[in-house]
Parts: sequence; C-alpha cells; structure tokens
Amino acid sequence: QQFLKGLPKVELHAHLNGSLGIKSLCDLGERLYGSTSEEFLKLCARFSRFEKEMDMNACFEKFAFVHELTSTPEGLRFATELAIRDFAQDNVQYVELRTTPKANANYSRRDYLQIVIDAIRRAKETYPAITVKLLPSINRAEPVAVAEETASLAVELAQAHPNLILGIDLSGNPGKGRFSDFAPILAQARAKGLKLVIHCAEIENPSEVKEMLQFGMSRCGHGTFLTPEDIEQLKQRNIAIECCLTSNVKSGTVPSLEEHHLKRIMEADAHKVICTDDSGVFDTTLTKEFVIAAETFGLTREHCVDLTFEAVNHSFASEQERIEMVDKVATYMAIWS
Ligand code: IMP
Repeated sequence: QQFLKGLPKVELHAHLNGSLGIKSLCDLGERLYGSTSEEFLKLCARFSRFEKEMDMNACFEKFAFVHELTSTPEGLRFATELAIRDFAQDNVQYVELRTTPKANANYSRRDYLQIVIDAIRRAKETYPAITVKLLPSINRAEPVAVAEETASLAVELAQAHPNLILGIDLSGNPGKGRFSDFAPILAQARAKGLKLVIHCAEIENPSEVKEMLQFGMSRCGHGTFLTPEDIEQLKQRNIAIECCLTSNVKSGTVPSLEEHHLKRIMEADAHKVICTDDSGVFDTTLTKEFVIAAETFGLTREHCVDLTFEAVNHSFASEQERIEMVDKVATYMAIWS
C-alpha cells in the first residue's frame, strides 16, 4: 500500500464533479457559505448521510448535489482546484480530467470551460508536480444541439490551448440517448484533431457496442459488457479499456470485484488502464484502486508499475511529457529497490 501510494500514478478516466471527496466538498461548502452559516450546517448533515449510504441512488444524488455546489463561477473554480489537490495528494503525476460544460444563470458553457481552464492553469502554481489535461464531455442524456455546442467549443478552445484540451468524452446515463445521433458530431471533432474517449458497453447493448467499435475511439470507457471478440478487436487496434473497479461494483454494473472484467481483459492480454471514474462519489482514490486490483487479482508491484507504464502509453500526453512520466516512475522504483 505504501509503495502504491507513493508511486507517481497516471489517471485517465476522472469526471471533475465526481472527483471531489468528502473533505473537498466540506472545504467547498465552507468557502461558499462560511463555516457558521445555516447552509453550511445543513450541507454537513447531508454529507454525513452520503457517507453512510453508498448505494446507487445516493451516488446519483451526489452528482446533482455536487453540481449545486459548482453552479457558480467561484464554486466551479474552487472545485477544480480541489479535485486537482486531491489527485496531487494521492501522488497522481498526470490526470486527464473530463467534465460536461453546463449553462445556467451564472455562466454559459463557454464560460464554464474557461473557468475550468483558468483554474487548471492556476493550480499548476500550487501543485507543480501534477500535469492536468482537459477533455470536455458530451452528456448523451442531453439534446444533440448541446453536444454540437460542446464539440465546437472543444475544437475552438483546443486551438487556443493545444497542450491542454486534447479530446472529447462521450458519457452520461448509458440508458439515455442514441450513439448514432452523436456520431457525426464526434466524427467532426476527430477530423479537427481531437481524440475521442467513449463510454462503451457500460450496460448491455450489443448493437450500440458494435456501432461504437466500428466508429472507433482512442480509449474505451468501462467496457463492462464487451464480448471476448470485442476485447480481441480492441487489443488488435491498440485501444485501451479504462477499468474502474469500485465505480462499477458500487453502481451495480458488475456484481463483485472478483467478477470484474479486468480479469478477462488481463487474461486476453488486452490493453487496460486502472482509473477511478468518480473518486469522490465512490469514495476511492487511484491508490485504493491499485490496492483493490492487486488484492483481488494477485498483482505484484511489477504488475502495478507495468500498468502505470501502460497508462503513460495510452495517455494523450506529448512525447516529452511521456518521457518525464516514465523517468519519475523509474526514479521512484530505484528508491524502493
Ligand atoms: P461532470 O461532467 O464534471 O459534471 O462529472 C459528473 C458527470 O459525469 C455525471 O453527471 C455524468 O454525466 C458523467 N459520469 C460520471 N460517471 C459516469 C459513468 O460512470 N458513466 C457515465 N457517465 C458518467
């Protein structure tokens, strides 16, 4: 555990609003409302309930709850900083944060992305050891017109921030929306140079999985219901599957850790990365995910280091950034041996 905690890790599947732990949510509530206000005391009562009730409903209630706290520019800015703080404290050296731009009375989708971009920039000064990239998300539960706006903002802002915005994520409730409606938008973004990370096979939907695999992607989110043939196809195409153990078990798409598809993916020697998904909502960290994977599937230290190198390879980092990430891991290994 101590080894895994100190390992300079690489996180490739993390939703910004899902990545705020209880402590960060408290810090956020305190900053927004003041520690003696009635709002803050009410928030504390709701937090403690979430801590006790970690079932599916509480998870989704928690997303809506976090979205309330980040519905102002100040809340969103501070939440971004806190999420980065939490990853940095877990010795994550590189994170690709994804988030769905939102519009409300306080900000537009463009403002939302700009606030997050500025917060990431500022966090570099406070947390210099972590490199952060941004992947705007399209929420498949929202109308196609919203996806069009998000994709065009992502393309435009990627031109202004080419080393920061590297791709687009397709996420949201997998039971809602049709992939075919979003495919042309994603194809256009890809043609303009953005990478695509797609939540795929999170629930059982073989025809959609087929469409998604045909369409292609840079990495596959979850991949819970992929068939052995699908896994083989991803392997041949060098597409990594982002495995989020705690998230899948707590949200009920996988019955137990022992039955997690990471086992089948490893047996097939296909490409995989270990990720948190929503470390706050699911009360985990990347260190904990490695510990769980190691304990459940008998992984050694060397396996965990190899998984980290695999994450470096499948990241959207530049060549120079990859070299630096590998160097950091190698230096860490040298200290331990
Ligand atoms: P946000 O995009 O920063 O607001 O992060 C939270 C959002 O990410 C949720 O409201 C969902 O739309 C999306 N999300 C988080 N986890 C999952 C998942 O496991 N599957 C699909 N979508 C997810």
